[in-house]
Amino acid sequence: MNKLSYLNMNRCISDNIFTLISDFAQKSGVEAYVIGGYVRDCLLGRKNDKKDIDILVRGSGIDLAKKVAAGISSKIKVTVYKNFGTAMFRAGGHIIEFVGARKESYSSDSRKPLVEDGNLEDDQNRRDFTINAMAISLNKESYGQLIDPFKGIEDLEKKIIRTPLEPGRTFSDDPLRMLRAIRFASQLGFSIHPDTFESIKENAGRISIVSYERITTELNKILMSPEPSRGFSLLYDSKLLEIILPEVYMLKGVDKKEKHGHKDNFDHTMQVVDNVSQKSDSLWLRWAALLHDIAKPVTKKYIEGTGWTFHGHEFIGSKMVPGIFKRLKLPMGDSMKYVKKLVALHLRPIILSQDSVTDSAVRRLLFDAGDDIDDLMMLCEADITSKNEKKIRQHLSNFRLVRQKLREIEQKDHIRNFQPPIDGNEIIKMFDLKPGREVGDLKDSIKEAILDGIIPNEYEAAKDFLIKKAAEMGLRPSSG
Ligand code: ATP
Ligand code: MG
Repeated sequence: MNKLSYLNMNRCISDNIFTLISDFAQKSGVEAYVIGGYVRDCLLGRKNDKKDIDILVRGSGIDLAKKVAAGISSKIKVTVYKNFGTAMFRAGGHIIEFVGARKESYSSDSRKPLVEDGNLEDDQNRRDFTINAMAISLNKESYGQLIDPFKGIEDLEKKIIRTPLEPGRTFSDDPLRMLRAIRFASQLGFSIHPDTFESIKENAGRISIVSYERITTELNKILMSPEPSRGFSLLYDSKLLEIILPEVYMLKGVDKKEKHGHKDNFDHTMQVVDNVSQKSDSLWLRWAALLHDIAKPVTKKYIEGTGWTFHGHEFIGSKMVPGIFKRLKLPMGDSMKYVKKLVALHLRPIILSQDSVTDSAVRRLLFDAGDDIDDLMMLCEADITSKNEKKIRQHLSNFRLVRQKLREIEQKDHIRNFQPPIDGNEIIKMFDLKPGREVGDLKDSIKEAILDGIIPNEYEAAKDFLIKKAAEMGLRPSSG
Protein backbone atom coordinates (compact mmCIF):
# COMPACT_ATOMS: atom_id res chain seq x y z
CA MET A 1 0.00 0.00 0.00
CA ASN A 2 1.20 3.46 -0.83
CA LYS A 3 2.60 5.65 1.93
CA LEU A 4 -0.05 8.32 1.63
CA SER A 5 -2.70 5.74 2.24
CA TYR A 6 -1.86 5.67 5.95
CA LEU A 7 -2.55 9.35 6.33
CA ASN A 8 -4.67 10.12 9.32
CA MET A 9 -7.99 11.39 8.16
CA ASN A 10 -9.37 12.56 11.48
CA ARG A 11 -10.28 15.98 10.22
CA CYS A 12 -12.75 14.42 7.77
CA ILE A 13 -14.49 12.45 10.49
CA SER A 14 -14.60 14.93 13.35
CA ASP A 15 -18.41 15.16 13.24
CA ASN A 16 -20.05 13.28 16.15
CA ILE A 17 -21.99 11.15 13.73
CA PHE A 18 -18.82 9.21 12.83
CA THR A 19 -18.03 8.30 16.45
CA LEU A 20 -21.62 7.15 16.89
CA ILE A 21 -21.46 4.97 13.79
CA SER A 22 -18.15 3.58 14.98
CA ASP A 23 -19.56 2.69 18.42
CA PHE A 24 -22.67 1.01 17.05
CA ALA A 25 -20.70 -0.87 14.41
CA GLN A 26 -18.41 -2.29 17.08
CA LYS A 27 -21.31 -3.29 19.32
CA SER A 28 -22.98 -5.05 16.38
CA GLY A 29 -19.79 -6.76 15.29
CA VAL A 30 -19.79 -5.24 11.77
CA GLU A 31 -17.18 -3.18 9.89
CA ALA A 32 -18.03 0.35 8.76
CA TYR A 33 -16.30 2.83 6.46
CA VAL A 34 -17.11 6.23 5.04
CA ILE A 35 -16.56 6.04 1.30
CA GLY A 36 -16.95 7.84 -2.05
CA GLY A 37 -17.85 11.46 -2.70
CA TYR A 38 -17.65 12.57 0.91
CA VAL A 39 -14.05 11.38 1.26
CA ARG A 40 -13.06 12.84 -2.10
CA ASP A 41 -14.55 16.24 -1.35
CA CYS A 42 -13.08 16.36 2.16
CA LEU A 43 -9.60 15.70 0.79
CA LEU A 44 -10.15 18.34 -1.88
CA GLY A 45 -11.25 20.81 0.76
CA ARG A 46 -14.56 21.29 -1.04
CA LYS A 47 -17.38 22.58 1.11
CA ASN A 48 -19.05 19.63 2.76
CA ASP A 49 -21.77 21.34 4.77
CA LYS A 50 -24.71 19.62 3.18
CA LYS A 51 -22.82 16.76 1.66
CA ASP A 52 -24.29 13.27 1.47
CA ILE A 53 -22.34 10.80 3.56
CA ASP A 54 -22.07 7.24 2.26
CA ILE A 55 -21.36 4.59 4.88
CA LEU A 56 -20.20 1.21 3.68
CA VAL A 57 -21.00 -1.68 6.02
CA ARG A 58 -19.59 -5.15 5.92
CA GLY A 59 -22.73 -6.78 7.21
CA SER A 60 -26.26 -5.35 7.20
CA GLY A 61 -26.35 -1.65 6.31
CA ILE A 62 -30.04 -1.52 7.14
CA ASP A 63 -29.56 -2.83 10.69
CA LEU A 64 -26.73 -0.43 11.44
CA ALA A 65 -28.68 2.53 10.03
CA LYS A 66 -31.62 1.73 12.32
CA LYS A 67 -29.39 1.41 15.37
CA VAL A 68 -27.48 4.64 14.73
CA ALA A 69 -30.67 6.58 14.01
CA ALA A 70 -32.31 5.29 17.21
CA GLY A 71 -29.14 6.22 19.08
CA ILE A 72 -29.45 9.83 17.93
CA SER A 73 -33.18 10.26 18.49
CA SER A 74 -36.29 8.12 18.42
CA LYS A 75 -37.84 10.74 16.13
CA ILE A 76 -35.55 10.13 13.17
CA LYS A 77 -37.26 8.41 10.28
CA VAL A 78 -35.18 5.77 8.52
CA THR A 79 -35.99 5.10 4.86
CA VAL A 80 -35.22 1.52 3.86
CA TYR A 81 -34.67 0.27 0.31
CA LYS A 82 -34.83 -3.43 0.97
CA ASN A 83 -34.15 -4.50 -2.61
CA PHE A 84 -30.88 -2.60 -2.64
CA GLY A 85 -29.95 -3.45 0.94
CA THR A 86 -29.64 0.25 1.74
CA ALA A 87 -31.14 2.62 4.29
CA MET A 88 -30.87 6.35 4.83
CA PHE A 89 -31.82 9.10 7.24
CA ARG A 90 -31.21 12.81 7.75
CA ALA A 91 -29.28 14.14 10.72
CA GLY A 92 -27.26 17.26 11.43
CA GLY A 93 -27.89 18.67 7.94
CA HIS A 94 -26.50 15.56 6.28
CA ILE A 95 -28.17 12.76 4.38
CA ILE A 96 -26.51 9.60 5.62
CA GLU A 97 -26.81 6.49 3.54
CA PHE A 98 -25.83 3.01 4.70
CA VAL A 99 -24.97 0.36 2.13
CA GLY A 100 -23.90 -3.24 2.56
CA ALA A 101 -20.56 -3.98 0.85
CA ARG A 102 -21.16 -5.73 -2.44
CA LYS A 103 -19.59 -7.54 -5.28
CA GLU A 104 -21.07 -6.99 -8.72
CA SER A 105 -21.05 -8.84 -12.00
CA TYR A 106 -22.58 -7.48 -15.19
CA SER A 107 -24.08 -8.90 -18.35
CA SER A 108 -23.62 -7.07 -21.64
CA ASP A 109 -27.16 -5.81 -22.23
CA SER A 110 -27.95 -4.03 -19.02
CA ARG A 111 -26.72 -1.60 -16.41
CA LYS A 112 -28.21 -3.84 -13.71
CA PRO A 113 -25.55 -6.06 -12.21
CA LEU A 114 -25.82 -9.36 -10.41
CA VAL A 115 -25.10 -8.43 -6.80
CA GLU A 116 -23.63 -10.56 -4.02
CA ASP A 117 -22.39 -9.69 -0.55
CA GLY A 118 -18.75 -8.73 -0.63
CA ASN A 119 -15.96 -7.21 1.40
CA LEU A 120 -14.47 -3.71 1.32
CA GLU A 121 -12.12 -4.61 -1.51
CA ASP A 122 -14.93 -6.03 -3.69
CA ASP A 123 -16.89 -2.87 -3.10
CA GLN A 124 -13.99 -0.58 -3.95
CA ASN A 125 -13.44 -2.56 -7.16
CA ARG A 126 -16.94 -1.77 -8.39
CA ARG A 127 -16.50 2.00 -7.92
CA ASP A 128 -16.25 4.21 -10.97
CA PHE A 129 -13.06 6.25 -10.43
CA THR A 130 -9.97 6.05 -8.24
CA ILE A 131 -10.90 9.33 -6.55
CA ASN A 132 -14.35 7.93 -5.73
CA ALA A 133 -13.10 4.62 -4.34
CA MET A 134 -11.29 5.90 -1.25
CA ALA A 135 -12.61 4.87 2.15
CA ILE A 136 -11.88 5.93 5.71
CA SER A 137 -12.12 3.28 8.42
CA LEU A 138 -14.59 3.83 11.25
CA ASN A 139 -13.46 0.63 12.99
CA LYS A 140 -11.86 0.93 16.43
CA GLU A 141 -8.49 -0.64 15.63
CA SER A 142 -7.96 1.46 12.47
CA TYR A 143 -10.19 4.49 13.10
CA GLY A 144 -9.37 7.34 10.72
CA GLN A 145 -7.15 5.32 8.40
CA LEU A 146 -7.48 5.99 4.68
CA ILE A 147 -7.88 2.88 2.57
CA ASP A 148 -6.91 3.81 -0.93
CA PRO A 149 -6.04 0.74 -3.01
CA PHE A 150 -5.99 2.61 -6.35
CA LYS A 151 -3.93 5.63 -5.31
CA GLY A 152 -6.91 7.92 -5.59
CA ILE A 153 -5.08 10.46 -3.50
CA GLU A 154 -2.32 10.78 -6.10
CA ASP A 155 -4.94 11.28 -8.80
CA LEU A 156 -6.54 13.95 -6.64
CA GLU A 157 -3.21 15.73 -6.47
CA LYS A 158 -2.61 15.39 -10.21
CA LYS A 159 -6.25 16.26 -10.93
CA ILE A 160 -6.90 13.12 -12.92
CA ILE A 161 -10.04 11.08 -13.50
CA ARG A 162 -9.12 7.43 -13.96
CA THR A 163 -10.95 4.13 -13.58
CA PRO A 164 -9.69 1.74 -10.88
CA LEU A 165 -9.82 -1.33 -13.11
CA GLU A 166 -9.29 -1.75 -16.84
CA PRO A 167 -11.38 1.13 -18.27
CA GLY A 168 -13.00 -0.92 -21.06
CA ARG A 169 -14.55 -3.15 -18.46
CA THR A 170 -15.62 -0.31 -16.17
CA PHE A 171 -17.41 1.46 -19.04
CA SER A 172 -18.92 -1.52 -20.73
CA ASP A 173 -20.29 -2.70 -17.33
CA ASP A 174 -21.99 0.64 -16.81
CA PRO A 175 -21.81 3.15 -19.69
CA LEU A 176 -23.26 5.91 -17.50
CA ARG A 177 -19.76 6.09 -16.00
CA MET A 178 -18.50 7.67 -19.24
CA LEU A 179 -20.75 10.65 -18.62
CA ARG A 180 -19.83 10.69 -14.94
CA ALA A 181 -16.14 10.88 -15.90
CA ILE A 182 -16.82 13.95 -18.01
CA ARG A 183 -19.10 15.44 -15.39
CA PHE A 184 -16.48 15.10 -12.64
CA ALA A 185 -13.78 16.51 -14.95
CA SER A 186 -16.01 19.52 -15.61
CA GLN A 187 -17.14 20.01 -11.99
CA LEU A 188 -13.69 19.63 -10.48
CA GLY A 189 -11.59 21.08 -13.31
CA PHE A 190 -9.77 17.72 -13.71
CA SER A 191 -8.51 16.03 -16.86
CA ILE A 192 -9.37 12.49 -17.87
CA HIS A 193 -6.45 10.04 -18.04
CA PRO A 194 -5.61 9.29 -21.71
CA ASP A 195 -6.27 5.52 -21.37
CA THR A 196 -9.58 6.22 -19.68
CA PHE A 197 -10.53 8.74 -22.36
CA GLU A 198 -9.53 6.40 -25.22
CA SER A 199 -11.83 3.83 -23.72
CA ILE A 200 -14.72 6.30 -23.50
CA LYS A 201 -14.32 6.93 -27.23
CA GLU A 202 -14.36 3.20 -27.92
CA ASN A 203 -17.40 2.58 -25.77
CA ALA A 204 -19.38 5.75 -26.61
CA GLY A 205 -22.00 3.78 -28.57
CA ARG A 206 -22.97 1.89 -25.42
CA ILE A 207 -24.47 5.04 -23.93
CA SER A 208 -27.62 3.96 -25.80
CA ILE A 209 -28.52 1.49 -23.00
CA VAL A 210 -28.68 4.36 -20.49
CA SER A 211 -32.01 6.08 -19.85
CA TYR A 212 -32.36 9.76 -20.74
CA GLU A 213 -33.26 10.59 -17.14
CA ARG A 214 -29.78 9.60 -16.05
CA ILE A 215 -28.07 11.17 -19.03
CA THR A 216 -29.85 14.44 -18.34
CA THR A 217 -28.89 14.42 -14.65
CA GLU A 218 -25.26 14.40 -15.77
CA LEU A 219 -25.83 17.02 -18.50
CA ASN A 220 -27.39 19.32 -15.92
CA LYS A 221 -24.40 18.84 -13.62
CA ILE A 222 -22.04 19.62 -16.50
CA LEU A 223 -24.04 22.76 -17.26
CA MET A 224 -23.89 23.78 -13.60
CA SER A 225 -20.11 23.36 -13.38
CA PRO A 226 -17.93 26.48 -13.22
CA GLU A 227 -16.87 26.28 -16.87
CA PRO A 228 -19.39 24.11 -18.72
CA SER A 229 -17.44 24.32 -22.00
CA ARG A 230 -14.89 22.01 -20.43
CA GLY A 231 -17.47 19.23 -20.13
CA PHE A 232 -19.00 19.90 -23.55
CA SER A 233 -15.63 19.80 -25.32
CA LEU A 234 -15.00 16.42 -23.71
CA LEU A 235 -18.48 15.29 -24.78
CA TYR A 236 -17.67 16.40 -28.30
CA ASP A 237 -14.23 14.76 -28.44
CA SER A 238 -15.50 11.52 -26.92
CA LYS A 239 -18.24 11.21 -29.58
CA LEU A 240 -20.88 11.07 -26.86
CA LEU A 241 -22.34 14.43 -27.88
CA GLU A 242 -23.40 13.28 -31.33
CA ILE A 243 -25.42 10.49 -29.72
CA ILE A 244 -27.04 12.30 -26.81
CA LEU A 245 -27.36 15.86 -28.18
CA PRO A 246 -26.92 15.72 -31.97
CA GLU A 247 -28.43 19.20 -32.35
CA VAL A 248 -25.56 20.74 -30.39
CA TYR A 249 -22.99 18.51 -32.11
CA MET A 250 -24.23 19.83 -35.49
CA LEU A 251 -23.21 23.36 -34.53
CA LYS A 252 -19.55 22.43 -35.01
CA GLY A 253 -17.71 23.39 -38.15
CA VAL A 254 -17.17 26.20 -40.60
CA ASP A 255 -18.16 26.41 -44.26
CA LYS A 256 -16.20 28.55 -46.68
CA LYS A 257 -17.31 29.87 -50.02
CA GLU A 258 -15.41 32.41 -52.09
CA LYS A 259 -13.99 34.75 -49.46
CA HIS A 260 -16.77 34.15 -46.96
CA GLY A 261 -16.61 31.99 -43.84
CA HIS A 262 -18.72 32.12 -40.68
CA LYS A 263 -17.86 31.57 -37.08
CA ASP A 264 -17.84 28.06 -35.65
CA ASN A 265 -21.22 27.98 -33.93
CA PHE A 266 -20.22 25.26 -31.47
CA ASP A 267 -17.21 27.23 -30.23
CA HIS A 268 -19.33 30.37 -30.11
CA THR A 269 -22.10 28.60 -28.16
CA MET A 270 -19.56 27.30 -25.66
CA GLN A 271 -18.29 30.79 -25.07
CA VAL A 272 -21.82 32.08 -24.55
CA VAL A 273 -22.57 29.29 -22.06
CA ASP A 274 -19.38 30.09 -20.13
CA ASN A 275 -20.21 33.80 -20.22
CA VAL A 276 -23.68 33.39 -18.70
CA SER A 277 -22.28 30.92 -16.18
CA GLN A 278 -20.00 33.62 -14.83
CA LYS A 279 -23.00 35.86 -14.26
CA SER A 280 -25.74 33.50 -13.10
CA ASP A 281 -26.40 30.18 -11.33
CA SER A 282 -29.61 29.59 -13.24
CA LEU A 283 -29.69 26.16 -14.87
CA TRP A 284 -32.36 27.31 -17.33
CA LEU A 285 -30.47 30.40 -18.42
CA ARG A 286 -27.55 28.06 -19.14
CA TRP A 287 -29.85 25.80 -21.17
CA ALA A 288 -31.06 28.85 -23.08
CA ALA A 289 -27.44 29.77 -23.83
CA LEU A 290 -26.70 26.22 -24.99
CA LEU A 291 -29.70 26.21 -27.34
CA HIS A 292 -29.82 29.84 -28.47
CA ASP A 293 -28.31 29.17 -31.92
CA ILE A 294 -29.56 25.60 -32.21
CA ALA A 295 -31.25 26.26 -35.58
CA LYS A 296 -28.22 27.79 -37.24
CA PRO A 297 -27.25 24.56 -39.04
CA VAL A 298 -30.76 24.09 -40.47
CA THR A 299 -31.24 27.73 -41.51
CA LYS A 300 -27.78 28.25 -42.96
CA LYS A 301 -27.76 29.68 -46.47
CA TYR A 302 -25.09 31.14 -48.67
CA ILE A 303 -26.14 34.30 -50.47
CA GLU A 304 -23.98 35.45 -53.35
CA GLY A 305 -22.22 38.67 -52.48
CA THR A 306 -23.53 38.76 -48.91
CA GLY A 307 -22.10 35.60 -47.38
CA TRP A 308 -23.59 33.18 -44.90
CA THR A 309 -27.00 33.90 -43.39
CA PHE A 310 -29.08 32.17 -40.72
CA HIS A 311 -32.41 33.88 -41.29
CA GLY A 312 -35.11 32.98 -38.81
CA HIS A 313 -32.83 30.79 -36.71
CA GLU A 314 -34.26 32.31 -33.54
CA PHE A 315 -37.86 31.29 -34.41
CA ILE A 316 -37.00 27.87 -35.80
CA GLY A 317 -34.69 27.35 -32.83
CA SER A 318 -37.38 28.18 -30.32
CA LYS A 319 -39.66 25.67 -32.08
CA MET A 320 -36.98 22.99 -31.63
CA VAL A 321 -36.85 23.49 -27.87
CA PRO A 322 -39.92 21.43 -26.83
CA GLY A 323 -38.76 18.41 -28.84
CA ILE A 324 -35.30 18.53 -27.32
CA PHE A 325 -36.70 18.94 -23.79
CA LYS A 326 -39.11 16.07 -24.33
CA ARG A 327 -36.43 13.68 -25.55
CA LEU A 328 -34.13 14.64 -22.68
CA LYS A 329 -36.96 14.18 -20.18
CA LEU A 330 -36.49 17.76 -19.00
CA PRO A 331 -39.55 19.42 -17.39
CA MET A 332 -42.08 20.56 -20.01
CA GLY A 333 -43.66 23.37 -17.96
CA ASP A 334 -42.43 26.85 -17.13
CA SER A 335 -38.71 26.04 -17.50
CA MET A 336 -39.22 24.86 -21.06
CA LYS A 337 -41.37 27.88 -21.91
CA TYR A 338 -38.69 30.15 -20.48
CA VAL A 339 -35.94 28.58 -22.61
CA LYS A 340 -38.18 28.68 -25.68
CA LYS A 341 -38.91 32.35 -25.11
CA LEU A 342 -35.28 33.34 -24.58
CA VAL A 343 -34.23 31.52 -27.75
CA ALA A 344 -37.02 33.24 -29.69
CA LEU A 345 -36.12 36.70 -28.40
CA HIS A 346 -32.33 36.47 -28.30
CA LEU A 347 -31.77 38.81 -31.26
CA ARG A 348 -34.25 41.48 -30.24
CA PRO A 349 -32.07 43.57 -27.91
CA ILE A 350 -29.23 43.62 -30.40
CA ILE A 351 -31.50 44.69 -33.26
CA LEU A 352 -32.91 47.31 -30.94
CA SER A 353 -29.46 48.59 -30.04
CA GLN A 354 -28.46 48.89 -33.69
CA ASP A 355 -31.51 50.90 -34.76
CA SER A 356 -32.42 54.10 -33.08
CA VAL A 357 -33.95 52.98 -29.81
CA THR A 358 -37.58 54.07 -30.12
CA ASP A 359 -39.93 54.00 -27.14
CA SER A 360 -42.40 51.73 -28.84
CA ALA A 361 -39.74 49.15 -29.76
CA VAL A 362 -38.61 49.13 -26.13
CA ARG A 363 -42.22 48.76 -24.95
CA ARG A 364 -42.72 45.79 -27.28
CA LEU A 365 -39.58 44.10 -26.02
CA LEU A 366 -40.68 44.62 -22.42
CA PHE A 367 -44.11 43.25 -23.24
CA ASP A 368 -42.74 40.14 -24.99
CA ALA A 369 -40.04 39.36 -22.42
CA GLY A 370 -42.04 40.23 -19.29
CA ASP A 371 -40.24 39.25 -16.09
CA ASP A 372 -37.50 37.53 -18.05
CA ILE A 373 -36.17 40.77 -19.52
CA ASP A 374 -33.10 40.84 -17.24
CA ASP A 375 -32.15 37.27 -18.13
CA LEU A 376 -32.67 38.06 -21.79
CA MET A 377 -30.33 41.03 -21.53
CA MET A 378 -27.76 38.82 -19.78
CA LEU A 379 -27.99 36.25 -22.58
CA CYS A 380 -27.60 38.93 -25.24
CA GLU A 381 -24.55 40.44 -23.62
CA ALA A 382 -23.05 36.97 -23.29
CA ASP A 383 -23.78 36.45 -27.00
CA ILE A 384 -21.24 39.09 -28.03
CA THR A 385 -18.16 36.99 -28.68
CA SER A 386 -16.43 38.95 -31.41
CA LYS A 387 -12.64 38.98 -31.40
CA ASN A 388 -12.71 42.65 -32.27
CA GLU A 389 -12.36 44.60 -29.01
CA LYS A 390 -13.74 47.77 -30.53
CA LYS A 391 -16.85 46.01 -31.78
CA ILE A 392 -17.44 44.46 -28.36
CA ARG A 393 -17.12 47.83 -26.64
CA GLN A 394 -19.52 49.38 -29.13
CA HIS A 395 -22.12 46.63 -28.57
CA LEU A 396 -21.83 46.78 -24.81
CA SER A 397 -22.28 50.52 -24.75
CA ASN A 398 -25.35 50.20 -26.99
CA PHE A 399 -26.70 47.65 -24.56
CA ARG A 400 -26.23 50.05 -21.68
CA LEU A 401 -28.40 52.47 -23.58
CA VAL A 402 -31.05 49.80 -24.14
CA ARG A 403 -31.01 48.90 -20.44
CA GLN A 404 -31.41 52.52 -19.47
CA LYS A 405 -34.29 52.94 -21.90
CA LEU A 406 -35.89 49.76 -20.54
CA ARG A 407 -35.76 51.17 -17.03
CA GLU A 408 -37.19 54.53 -18.02
CA ILE A 409 -40.06 53.10 -20.01
CA GLU A 410 -40.91 50.49 -17.40
CA GLN A 411 -41.08 53.17 -14.73
CA LYS A 412 -43.30 55.31 -16.89
CA ASP A 413 -45.59 52.75 -18.52
CA HIS A 414 -45.43 49.54 -16.40
CA ILE A 415 -45.35 47.25 -19.38
CA ARG A 416 -43.82 44.22 -17.65
CA ASN A 417 -46.68 41.78 -16.87
CA PHE A 418 -48.95 44.27 -18.55
CA GLN A 419 -52.62 43.44 -19.09
CA PRO A 420 -54.69 45.83 -21.22
CA PRO A 421 -56.78 47.97 -18.80
CA ILE A 422 -60.04 46.80 -20.39
CA ASP A 423 -60.65 43.08 -20.71
CA GLY A 424 -62.79 41.00 -23.05
CA ASN A 425 -65.73 40.68 -20.66
CA GLU A 426 -66.03 44.39 -20.31
CA ILE A 427 -65.94 44.86 -24.08
CA ILE A 428 -68.70 42.26 -24.47
CA LYS A 429 -70.89 44.10 -21.96
CA MET A 430 -70.14 47.54 -23.33
CA PHE A 431 -71.18 46.74 -26.88
CA ASP A 432 -73.58 43.90 -26.20
CA LEU A 433 -71.47 41.51 -28.22
CA LYS A 434 -71.13 37.74 -28.34
CA PRO A 435 -67.66 36.34 -27.56
CA GLY A 436 -65.76 36.10 -30.82
CA ARG A 437 -63.39 37.68 -33.26
CA GLU A 438 -64.63 41.27 -32.86
CA VAL A 439 -63.97 41.18 -29.14
CA GLY A 440 -60.44 39.89 -29.71
CA ASP A 441 -59.74 42.54 -32.36
CA LEU A 442 -60.92 45.36 -30.10
CA LYS A 443 -58.90 44.08 -27.17
CA ASP A 444 -55.79 43.79 -29.37
CA SER A 445 -56.24 47.30 -30.72
CA ILE A 446 -56.01 48.65 -27.15
CA LYS A 447 -52.85 46.66 -26.51
CA GLU A 448 -51.27 47.83 -29.75
CA ALA A 449 -52.20 51.46 -29.10
CA ILE A 450 -50.54 51.33 -25.69
CA LEU A 451 -47.41 49.59 -26.97
CA ASP A 452 -47.16 52.10 -29.82
CA GLY A 453 -47.54 54.97 -27.37
CA ILE A 454 -50.74 56.27 -29.01
CA ILE A 455 -52.48 56.20 -25.63
CA PRO A 456 -51.11 55.86 -22.07
CA ASN A 457 -51.57 52.62 -20.13
CA GLU A 458 -54.67 53.92 -18.30
CA TYR A 459 -58.35 53.01 -18.04
CA GLU A 460 -60.06 56.24 -19.16
CA ALA A 461 -57.76 56.72 -22.14
CA ALA A 462 -58.30 53.10 -23.15
CA LYS A 463 -62.08 53.50 -22.90
CA ASP A 464 -62.17 56.61 -25.13
CA PHE A 465 -59.91 54.87 -27.62
CA LEU A 466 -62.10 51.77 -27.58
CA ILE A 467 -65.31 53.72 -28.27
CA LYS A 468 -63.70 55.42 -31.27
CA LYS A 469 -62.31 52.17 -32.59
CA ALA A 470 -65.68 50.43 -32.17
CA ALA A 471 -67.44 53.25 -33.98
CA GLU A 472 -65.14 52.66 -36.97
CA MET A 473 -66.44 49.09 -36.96
CA GLY A 474 -70.03 50.31 -36.77
CA LEU A 475 -70.51 49.45 -33.10
CA ARG A 476 -72.08 51.72 -30.48
CA PRO A 477 -72.06 51.27 -26.71
CA SER A 478 -75.27 49.55 -25.53
CA SER A 479 -77.49 51.83 -23.48
CA GLY A 480 -77.75 49.43 -20.48
P1 ATP B 1 -21.84 13.95 -5.98
O1 ATP B 1 -22.87 13.38 -5.06
O2 ATP B 1 -21.12 15.13 -5.49
O3 ATP B 1 -22.35 14.12 -7.36
P2 ATP B 1 -20.57 11.42 -5.54
O4 ATP B 1 -19.19 10.91 -5.79
O5 ATP B 1 -21.08 11.38 -4.15
O6 ATP B 1 -20.65 12.86 -6.14
P3 ATP B 1 -22.81 9.78 -6.18
O7 ATP B 1 -23.53 9.59 -7.47
O8 ATP B 1 -23.54 10.35 -5.02
O9 ATP B 1 -21.51 10.60 -6.50
O10 ATP B 1 -22.26 8.34 -5.80
C1 ATP B 1 -21.60 8.05 -4.57
C2 ATP B 1 -20.45 7.09 -4.82
O11 ATP B 1 -20.96 5.87 -5.36
C3 ATP B 1 -19.42 7.57 -5.82
O12 ATP B 1 -18.43 8.35 -5.20
C4 ATP B 1 -18.89 6.28 -6.37
O13 ATP B 1 -17.94 5.70 -5.50
C5 ATP B 1 -20.09 5.38 -6.37
N1 ATP B 1 -20.83 5.37 -7.63
C6 ATP B 1 -21.93 6.11 -7.95
N2 ATP B 1 -22.37 5.82 -9.17
C7 ATP B 1 -21.55 4.87 -9.65
C8 ATP B 1 -21.51 4.14 -10.88
N3 ATP B 1 -22.38 4.36 -11.86
N4 ATP B 1 -20.52 3.21 -11.01
C9 ATP B 1 -19.65 2.99 -10.03
N5 ATP B 1 -19.64 3.63 -8.87
C10 ATP B 1 -20.58 4.58 -8.67
MG1 MG C 1 -23.17 11.82 -3.55
